[in-house]
Amino acid sequence: EMVEFGVFFNRIIDRFEMSKSQNVSFERKVPKSQYFVEIDTDKLTQVIDNIISNALKYSPEGGKVRFSVREKEGELLVSISDEGMGIPKENVERIFDRFYRVDRARSRAMGGTGLGLAISKEMINAHGGRIWAQSRYGKGTSIYFTLPYEIDDGGEWD
Ligand code: ATP
Ligand code: MG
Repeated sequence: EMVEFGVFFNRIIDRFEMSKSQNVSFERKVPKSQYFVEIDTDKLTQVIDNIISNALKYSPEGGKVRFSVREKEGELLVSISDEGMGIPKENVERIFDRFYRVDRARSRAMGGTGLGLAISKEMINAHGGRIWAQSRYGKGTSIYFTLPYEIDDGGEWD
């Protein structure tokens, strides 16, 4: 399915913004009507839902979750950042492994199976993109992913 990524992404963010019960604010840098992507919308929704759920799970009271979409080197670059507890440097790459969870205490407290990001990685790769994380322990985490896109040509079809 061909969708405009900003519209698609904003709709998912809206859903979380309306239903969240925590005191966490959202900040968006999402351009409108520019970037068309050919995606399986159900699967991409699942990916983004998991990343936002994680960001909210680990956000402190009064924290901010930042969303951004921009073009970089011929791809769309999407990021979702939180101000949560972060992930120790030596564990950052492993969060995309199946069943991997950073620590047991955290896992017991937060629930979940540890599959979300492993599935996200498979789905992003299947769409021709990449996904990775940057984190500073105690400061916060950013998840990035890329997707191939097509530019709106401004009405070739009238
Ligand atoms: P599931 O998504 O299957 O319900 P989960 O959220 O534990 O379970 P993943 O989404 O795969 O699993 O995340 C794997 C682990 O990475 C988490 O258990 C957590 O330890 C760590 N993690 C993921 N996102 C964040 C984040 N935003 N801040 C801190 N830790 C994170
Ligand atoms: Mg998860």
